[in-house]
Formats: sequence, structure tokens, C-alpha cells
Amino acid sequence: MSKTFLAVNFGCRVNSAETNQWSQILVNQGYLPTISNPDLILINTCSVTKKGEKESLNKVKNLHLKYPDAKIYVTGCANLEKIKDLSNIFINPKEELLKTLNSSYTPKIKDKFSHTHRFLLKIQSGCTQFCSYCIVPFKRPKLWSLEINKAIETVNKAVSDGYTEIIITGVNIDQYQYDFSTLIKEILEKTDIKLISFGSIPINCIDQKFINLFKSYPERLSNFLHIPIQSGSDKILKLMNRPYNSQKIKEVTEKLRSEIRDLKLGTDIIVGFPTETESDFQETLNLCQKIGFSKIHVFRYSPRPGTKARIIFENSPKISKDVVKSRSQIIFQNKLPSRQKP
Ligand code: SF4
Repeated sequence: MSKTFLAVNFGCRVNSAETNQWSQILVNQGYLPTISNPDLILINTCSVTKKGEKESLNKVKNLHLKYPDAKIYVTGCANLEKIKDLSNIFINPKEELLKTLNSSYTPKIKDKFSHTHRFLLKIQSGCTQFCSYCIVPFKRPKLWSLEINKAIETVNKAVSDGYTEIIITGVNIDQYQYDFSTLIKEILEKTDIKLISFGSIPINCIDQKFINLFKSYPERLSNFLHIPIQSGSDKILKLMNRPYNSQKIKEVTEKLRSEIRDLKLGTDIIVGFPTETESDFQETLNLCQKIGFSKIHVFRYSPRPGTKARIIFENSPKISKDVVKSRSQIIFQNKLPSRQKP
């Protein structure tokens, strides 16, 4: 009888692509996916927020109780020290499980980011930007990029498997080591993929060459771009160690709006970063309204262990929870473009 496995993913699209890659490895070894009584379980954890880390570790504990005979492989970014003494738990770094960080992907495994015609193309992994609030560079310091010819090969395979859309994804695409615009151009020229969309695209990846592609291939590039800006205050952006300022955000988004038809923009905003004053917050709100994001993910700052922001601001006065909550709600309610309001 065939052995079975259950793959559980937490966190971002990159984790999801890797969980799929690992699942494909097991499928190739003759394992069958199941949702009950698995022989083997993979849990790919996340620690980008305190809440995400807690959920990941609770899932490990719950599945361990529910399936005491299953071998449980745990990987990902959570602090796995806390579960290392449980029996039948095997903690493995991702590279060890996946062997190569390529972008294989199985149509047999579904997840929240993909279905029958969408293919998650992981082009990059790792980050050494060290934004002051972010734990990711501590967990994924190894930089990896998919070579352009390998990307084309992978997309052509996906097209022959029936996929019509690829979603470009990476931990920090700003650190993609080959030229990002050239990658997209070559995929458009050398494959028949019908649509390319972008999980999240750093502002520094958007250059004129990239924008020009929307003129040459208007039907094959998604008109929704999620550009995480985090704040509109230069003081806060600097403290966050983000590699741009508010002027750059304005210039790039105005250019995009003027050159791409029916463009829709999304972003991530962190509210309540240490020392964020009412006026810093107002700058963020003003910028969001000016740009007219149609989708905003608002995060309330949470100090992560070992990060620069946590260390530097440990003894600074805290912004009250009520203020942070109210700022989060204000940003959320203002996400519609001000110019579209009556
Ligand atoms: S770019 Fe900044 S926010 Fe993104 S993963 Fe790297 S350190 Fe974290």
C-alpha cells in the first residue's frame, strides 16, 4: 500500500512554492497526498509575525498529538527550539529538504495561492536587506536567484502542463541577482504563458524597461501591482532601513499611473512603528490617499526578537495599543482612491 503525506503551509507565497516543491518530491517517490492519517507530515512554518509563529508551532503540537505515529518534518522560519524535544519530530533546514532551491511545482497539490491554472514561479529566495523590524534576514540569509534560462524552461514546462498564468514570487525580489526586467521580457518573448502576475514587487524593481513591457504586452501582464511601501514618512522609512524615500514612491507610482492603462495598486503599511508621531502617520495616510491604493494590508508593528528596531527602541515610550488600532483602522478605511470618492 502506498504511503501518504500531509503538507501544511504557513506564511508567504515563497513558503507555499517550497511546500509544493517538497510535495512534488514526495509524489515522485510514490507518496500520496492525504488529509487524514498521514504516514508523514511536513509543516512549513512562518515567523514574520508573533501570531504567525504561534499558529505554526501550535499546529506542530496539535498534529503531533493527533497523529502520534506519523513522522513530522518541520522546517521554515519559526523558532523550532520550542518543539525540538517532541518525539517523531525532525527539524530540517529547507535546503536540506529540497536539495535544490529550484521551482518545480506540482499540479496535484493545491494551496491558497494556486489552483489548476496558476503556477507560482519562485525566482528568488533569501534577504540581507535587514529592514529594522523584520526577522526574515535572520531566518533566510542565503541568497538564491533562478537563472533566466531556467525560468524560461520552467515556464515552458508549466505551459505544457496546462498552466495559463504564472505568479512571480520571491522573498525580496530587489535582490534578484539577474536583471528583473530582462527576466520578465524573456519570459514574455520565449514562452506562451498567457498572463504574468506579481506577488509583491519592490519599488526599486520598477524601471522604465519594466514599464515599457506593459505597452508591448498589455494583455499578458497583470494590471495589479502590489508594491509594499510600509510608510509615507521619510523619518520612519529611514528608521525602518527601507531602501527608498517618499519622493521615490511618488515618482514611481505617478509614472506607473501615467503609462499603464487601468492600473490597480496595492501595498503593505506598518502602523505604530516606534516613534511614529501623529504627523508621521498623517504623511503615510496622505501618501496612500494620493496614490489611491485599491488594496492595503495594514500591519500593526510587533517587535521581533533580535531585530534592530526591537533592540534600539526597547526602552523608548510605547505607542498605546488604542492609538495603533485607530491608525490601522483609518488606513484601512481610506484605501479607496480619494479621487473616486464623491
Ligand atoms: S526586504 Fe525588508 S521586509 Fe522584505 S524580507 Fe527583507 S528585511 Fe524583510
